[in-house]
Amino acid sequence: METALSPIRSHHVAVIGAGPAGLVAARELRREGHSVVVFEKQKQVGGTWIYTDEVESDPLSVDPTRSVVHSSVYSSLRINGTRECTGFRDYPFVVRSGVSESRDRRRFPSHGEVLAYLQDFAREFGIEEMVRFETEVVKVSPAAEGEIGKWRVESTEKEKRVRRDEIYDAVVVCNGHYVEPRLAEIPGISSWPGKEMHSHNYRIPEPFKDQVVVLIGNSSSAEDISRDIATFAKEVHVACRSNPADTFIKQTGYNNLWKHSSIECVHEDGSVVFQNGKTISVDIIMHCTGYKYHFPFLDTNGVVTVDDNRVGPLYKDVFPPAFAPWLSFIGIPWQVLPFPMFELQSKWIAGVLSGRIPLPSKEDMIMEIKTFYSTLEVQGIPKRYTHRMGNTQFEYDNWLASQCGCSETEEWRKEMCLANVVRKEAHPETYRDEWEDHHLIFQAYQDFFSYS
Ligand code: FAD
Repeated sequence: METALSPIRSHHVAVIGAGPAGLVAARELRREGHSVVVFEKQKQVGGTWIYTDEVESDPLSVDPTRSVVHSSVYSSLRINGTRECTGFRDYPFVVRSGVSESRDRRRFPSHGEVLAYLQDFAREFGIEEMVRFETEVVKVSPAAEGEIGKWRVESTEKEKRVRRDEIYDAVVVCNGHYVEPRLAEIPGISSWPGKEMHSHNYRIPEPFKDQVVVLIGNSSSAEDISRDIATFAKEVHVACRSNPADTFIKQTGYNNLWKHSSIECVHEDGSVVFQNGKTISVDIIMHCTGYKYHFPFLDTNGVVTVDDNRVGPLYKDVFPPAFAPWLSFIGIPWQVLPFPMFELQSKWIAGVLSGRIPLPSKEDMIMEIKTFYSTLEVQGIPKRYTHRMGNTQFEYDNWLASQCGCSETEEWRKEMCLANVVRKEAHPETYRDEWEDHHLIFQAYQDFFSYS
C-alpha cells in the first residue's frame, strides 16, 4: 500500500550542514516550495572542501574533549574522479567562462577548485541567504514524545553566544561522514613507544622528514599520502590487510616505499612486525582506515542507531521508517559519485515532504530494510559494509531518478566512472594526468551544453 501526504504542502525544514549535500538539499527543498534554514557550524559553505592547516590536539582523534576539526583534506589532494563525473548533474563542474585565470583547470583539480565550484553553486542559486553560519546544531529530538513529525532543533551561535531552541516540521541531516576516525586494532600497541596518528590529521609531508612511517589502509588517502610522504621520509611502508600474506613489494619509481600485508604485532622496542615476516623499527604509524558515522546531536530515543557502522534502520539509505518523512539523511552510501547522488536524494526528500512523491507504508519500508539486511547476511557481507555501493550505485541513482521523474544516469557518466576506477587501480601515480576516454569527455560536454 502506498501512502502520500496530501494535499501538496510546504514545510519548515532544518538542514544540518552546508557542505555539498546541504547545499543541494537546500536548493531542492526551496525549489519544491519549502521554507529552509541551513545550520552550518563553519564560517563558509563547502564542508570537507574547506582546507585548513589546523589539526586536532589529539593526532588519533580519540580524546572526546578535543576540539574537532571538520576537514580531513590534505594540502596536495586532487580529486580522485574526473570533474565531469564529480559535479552535480544540472550544474556541471566545468571551467566556466569569465572565471579567474588562477582557477585550477585540470581534469582532476585540487581541493581548492572543488571549494570554488561549491561557492559558485551557492552563489548561482542564492543558497547563502538560507544559511546560518557559525551555528552548530547541538541537539535534534522529537518535539513531543509519542508524536511523529515536528522536531526540536537546539543550536548555538558562536559569535553572539546565542542558544536557540526551535521547532521544525522536518530535519534533513547533511553533517558529513569523514570526521570521526576509525582505527585499526594492532596487537601490542599499548606498549609501543612510537607516535600514532589518523590521516584525518595529515596535512603536509615535511614533518615526516627522515622518519620511518607505516601507513595502514587501502584507500585513496593511503595511496596519495604514502607517495606524498615518501618525498621526505626515510622509509614508508604501507600495510594493507587485503594484500596476500606474503606481500612485500617495492613501489616502482621509489627507493623508499614498500607495500606489505597487514601488521602482525608491534613491540616495546619500537619494532613493527608484518604478516610477511619483515620486522622494521618505526617512528610513526598513520591509520588511513576511514571514518565512522557520527551524529552527536541526534536524540531519537534509540530509534536510529549506528551499529558497527550501519546507520539504521533506513529505507533506501535515507528515511528511518518510524520518522519518515520528517527525518532524513543525505550522503550515507559510500563508494559512490557523491554529488549526483546527493542531488537525487535531495529531490526525492523534497518531493516526498511536499506530498508529490508517495512513500510506501511504514510496514513495507521496514519489510524492505529487513529483506536487504538478510540479503547482505546471506552474501556474507559484514554489517560495516551496509552502505557500500560501488557498482550498484547507478541502479540506486536510477531508482531515485524514477521516483523524482528525472532522467537516468547518463551512459557516459557510468562508463567514465568505471573506467576511472580501473585506471586508478592500474596507474595510481598517473591516472589524474593521462587518459584515453576522449570520446566520453566529448559526450559529457555535449550533455552539459544541452543542460545549459
Ligand atoms: P561535508 O562536506 O563534510 O559537509 C558537512 C557540513 O556539515 C560541514 O560544513 C560541517 O561543518 C557541517 N556540520 C557538521 N555537523 C554540524 C552541526 N552539528 N551543526 C552545524 N553544522 C554541522 N568526494 C569526491 O567526490 N571526490 C573526491 O575526490 C573526494 N575526495 C575526498 C578526500 C578526502 C580526504 C575526504 C575526507 C573526502 C573526499 N570525498 C571526495 C568525499 C567528500 O566527503 C564528499 O565529496 C563531500 O564533501 C561530502 O559532502 P557532505 O555535504 O555530505 O559533507
